[in-house]
Amino acid sequence: MYCSHCGRQVEAAVRFCPACGAAVQPVVVGAPIFGQLVRLRYPRVFGGVCSGLAMHYGWDVITVRLLWVLCVLFAGTGILAYIIAWIVIPEAPYVLPENSTGSGV
Ligand SMILES: [Zn+2]
Repeated sequence: MYCSHCGRQVEAAVRFCPACGAAVQPVVVGAPIFGQLVRLRYPRVFGGVCSGLAMHYGWDVITVRLLWVLCVLFAGTGILAYIIAWIVIPEAPYVLPENSTGSGV
C-alpha cells in the first residue's frame, strides 16, 4: 500500500504515513497495472510522470522529481521530455478502495 500524499510505500496496517503524517487511504495501487508504466493519478504534481516512473522502477519519487528539476535547470530538456512523457505514457486507470469489493482482493 502507498501513501496517497507522498507516494511512499507504507505498511497495510498503518492509518497514517510515517514519512509525511498524512492519513493513509485504503487504496490498491499498482495491483491491476503491475509491470506497466503509467502516469499515476496520485500522488502527482503536474501530470504524474515522475511519480509513475518512480513507482514503475521502484525509485524514490522525491529523487525523480529532483532529477527532473535538475534536467530543467541545467540541461533545459526536462520540460520537453516531461511533455513527451505526458503524451506517451498512458494514465493509470481509476482504482477502487480495497473494502468496496468486499473480497479484499
Ligand atoms: Zn506520506
